[in-house]
This record gives sequence, structure tokens and C-alpha cells, in this order.
Amino acid sequence: MRIVQIPLLRDNYAYLIVCEKTNNAAIVDPSEAGPILSKVKEEKVTLRAILNTHHHHDHTGGNPGLLDRWTLQVYGYAADKERIPGLTHPLNDGDEVRIGELTGKVLFIPGHTRGHIAYLFENKLFCGDTLFVAGCGRLFEGTAEQMHDSLTKLRQLPEDTLVYCGHEYTEKNIQFALTLEPNNKHLTEKMQRARSLRAKGISTVPSTMAEEMETNPFLRWESKRSRTI
Ligand SMILES: [Zn+2]
Repeated sequence: MRIVQIPLLRDNYAYLIVCEKTNNAAIVDPSEAGPILSKVKEEKVTLRAILNTHHHHDHTGGNPGLLDRWTLQVYGYAADKERIPGLTHPLNDGDEVRIGELTGKVLFIPGHTRGHIAYLFENKLFCGDTLFVAGCGRLFEGTAEQMHDSLTKLRQLPEDTLVYCGHEYTEKNIQFALTLEPNNKHLTEKMQRARSLRAKGISTVPSTMAEEMETNPFLRWESKRSRTI
């Protein structure tokens, strides 16, 4: 499996998941079509599917343009059928998605929106706007309880799981995390690394679940130092 990260709009990431045996590919969360069309050409892969994590326009805005160009399967959460452009394959928790010879598992993780899902291919997690590097998504539609349950689900993934999230928010997230855990050395080190990568225009994504467990305040609710009140 090969993953190609595609920066879009201001700070979005889409991901091309390529099955190297068949050269079939899927695109996760295309914000816009143009850069995806070029990348598919450049990578010489056959795009078969769109995998949407949730309905927000900066994750589905490219669906119509890609569907103008190719006939594609469009995957997304079943109850969001009306909100995800071109949805052909409605999904629920535990369903599977095939790309060539790759199989991904669907995790229902509401909170940011009420129909948010993640896709897990081997040890690679595509979690949209639920879990970010050192942060989590805003509660636009779901409740704090739902987000807590969703993050609890993600916390159970193996430590070597690679976290491919929907945005480059890392520096701002670490700044906030440091206000909660100013003495967390993993966080100060992570901030240095993030700053140096961003100064060179390099992505801080993916992270790993091991790193998130050390640094992400939204997965560290047991940490006593995370309480400021
Ligand atoms: Zn969103």
C-alpha cells in the first residue's frame, strides 16, 4: 500500500491510497478536484473510489469535479446520503471497503459531525476531523459524550497506527496543549519538531497513536496535570 498526501485549500489534506498490486486507488476527502486530477495522472494510478469521512464541503467539495471526469464509487456514512455529493456506497460502523486487494475497516466516530467515520487500512487511520495531531475536531453537530466515545475507540488502536488527519493544525494544537500540560516534555519536543518541519513547508502528518497518547490532551484525560481549574 502506498499513501500519497495531497495538500489542498489552506490547510486541508487529501490522501491517495494506492493498492500497489493492482494500481487501483481511492482518494480520501477531496476538497477540490483540480489538484487530485493532476496527482492521479502524475502517479499513473487508476482512481476507483472516493472515501469521504464526513459531509463538510472542505472534505467533499471535489466529489462533483472528480465524478465529471470518472465513474467512481463514492463511500460515506449511510445517514449522510443527502449531504455527501454522489454517494453510491452508504457505510455503517464495521463495514469494509475494498480498493484493489486492500481492505479497509469503517469506524463510526461521531462528534465533529453526527455522521463522521474513519477508514482503517492495515495500520493507517484516516480520521478526517475527529482526531488531529495534538488535538481534536470541533463539536459542530455531536455532543461531548459522543466525541469522548469516539476518541475512546481510537485510543484502543495499536500504538504503531499512523494517524492521517484532515488538516495541518499541529502547531496551534500544540500551543493549546502546552497551556494544559506545560511540563510535558513530549509536547515541548514535538513543538520544536513541528516548527522546524513547517518552516521548511513539510507536513507534520502522519503522527502515530503512540505519539498522540503522549501529547494529545484529548486522549490524555487521565493526566492530572491536564487539569488547570
Ligand atoms: Zn469538518
